[in-house]
Amino acid sequence: QHHPSKFLVLVALSSGSLVAYSESQPDAVTSAADLTQKEPRKKRLVVLGTGWAGTSFLKDLDVSQYDVQVVSPRNYFAFTPLLPSVTCGTVEARSIVEPVRKIIRKRKGDIDFLEAECYKIDAANNKVLCRSIVENLVGPKEFSLEYDYLVVAMGAQVNTFNTPGVKENCHFLKEVEDAQKIRRSVIDCFENAILPGLSEEERRTSLHFVIVGGGPTGVEFAAELHDFFSEDLVNIYPMVREFVKITLIQAGDHILNTFDERISSFAESKFARDGIEVQTGCRVLSVSDKDISVKDKAKGQIFQVPYGMVVWSTGIGTRPVITDFMEQIGQGKRRVLATDEWLQVKGCQNVYALGDCATIDQRKIMDDISAIFKAADKDNSGTLTVEEFQDVMADILIRYPQLDLYLKSKHLRDVSDLLRDPQGNSRKEVDIEGFKLALSQVDAQMKSLPATAQVAAQQGAYLSNCFNRMELCKKNPEGPLQFKGSGRHSFRPFRYKHFGQFAPLGGEQAAAELPGDWVSMGQSTQWLWYSVYASKQVSWRTRVLVVSDWTRRFIFGRDSSRI
Ligand code: FAD
Repeated sequence: QHHPSKFLVLVALSSGSLVAYSESQPDAVTSAADLTQKEPRKKRLVVLGTGWAGTSFLKDLDVSQYDVQVVSPRNYFAFTPLLPSVTCGTVEARSIVEPVRKIIRKRKGDIDFLEAECYKIDAANNKVLCRSIVENLVGPKEFSLEYDYLVVAMGAQVNTFNTPGVKENCHFLKEVEDAQKIRRSVIDCFENAILPGLSEEERRTSLHFVIVGGGPTGVEFAAELHDFFSEDLVNIYPMVREFVKITLIQAGDHILNTFDERISSFAESKFARDGIEVQTGCRVLSVSDKDISVKDKAKGQIFQVPYGMVVWSTGIGTRPVITDFMEQIGQGKRRVLATDEWLQVKGCQNVYALGDCATIDQRKIMDDISAIFKAADKDNSGTLTVEEFQDVMADILIRYPQLDLYLKSKHLRDVSDLLRDPQGNSRKEVDIEGFKLALSQVDAQMKSLPATAQVAAQQGAYLSNCFNRMELCKKNPEGPLQFKGSGRHSFRPFRYKHFGQFAPLGGEQAAAELPGDWVSMGQSTQWLWYSVYASKQVSWRTRVLVVSDWTRRFIFGRDSSRI
């Protein structure tokens, strides 16, 4: 279906330069009369990325208002929370992906999808430079797209913290391909360990699985691997069962340290019972093809850990294309691309960024909080009564719900501590400066929301809502859709709603931290996890596939073929 105002991009690579032409751009021979008769062209909207943020944005976008072009090197959406299950064949890779073209076909409008990667955002000229990743390509590899609005949802890349040897020797768990590689590698280690002529030490090394990083991904992978071994592989490779070892290396003092303390300790004692060795307070210095050099931070000792397979799961970093974009727009000194609370990139009028590739710059959060306290402290005494303090806290938490998340985290001072003196007696008054000091300790974390699918999906839905109403708001500046506060933007700022987080721990046990300070652990939580993850699937097709994979695993176990 061809729309008269459709934006057609033709790319000429003559003399090595990139030129983009737009059908909708007036050319030299078009008369003024022709121009007035033409429908004003729709705004060109380019979306980079088809992950959680990009897909959620596209799912709700009113595509009749824009000419939309989507660029992503993956022509599918991947349900990342189930990636650890793919590493051991609990769920098949194809069960957790949905083709992007299928998702956008449902939008009943003009959306072009281009399987390519953006290698440069040219903010000054409102265009993006892209490179096709199609194998055996016919025609030009590179092209450019012009935009009126750009939505950057490119996610992040793995972060090795420049640790020597990590890129060359470790597995990562970020993409579907990574999970498939891990699955093959686990089986390889077992096949290697049963070859004739190996010493006992060599068999042990081959079956030593090391996970670096004790966050939710590392912990879930360790649990999956343990289940795979104890439920399936032990029956297939009984001769090497006593040589298998799983070690989890964590730089912090505890695993799952963004979770409630009770969940952290539950996970640690479950792993201890399962025989998964957790080495906390240890930093990896380098990884060679045979062993890992680890420093025990407390003792200052350095020791070598021989391994059969290492999975590196220590967090995320900024993609080079984003770093380059940040330098262009004066954000070169920052680590992550900053947006305002309306997800508009700071320093760019028409570029929005969401998901893992960006962070909402909330530097003014402390100023806001100070202003709320100042208003409440009517007699300027520097203290508030406990009741006043609780009212103020409720007000702050409505504005900044993510703060609640950090204040509850076990490594930070609990708000309730401020309500008691060192002897544990209730205070009558709360010292405002003391509270602000406690808050400043969490200031760094408060500035960024957690890099999760939950945040990315909510941001996508929020931004599509803004885009759907953008023209209407321009036409009716005083209309009911406007943000009534003092903000200079047309819409309410983005507010994150935290619905809780899960940590599957293997052996049909899971832990969950749910809104309202509710912590749940054990088998019933695992069933809750199954129902939530089944319900969150993007389509009925993937839902049916995932549930049937779980059923297949219950009945027949996991498949240990190395394909
Ligand atoms: P992504 O989903 O990573 O999507 C980025 C998109 O950009 C992709 O389509 C990619 O192909 C595309 N892209 C990359 N480079 C380019 C380029 N140069 N040009 C154009 N497009 C590009 N979160 C939870 O809330 N709960 C969980 O249980 C959970 N479990 C997780 C388990 C694992 C193993 C992992 C890796 C992550 C998990 N997360 C979880 C985090 C969650 O997956 C991310 O926060 C989420 O994917 C971020 O969404 P995004 O859209 O910003 O990025």
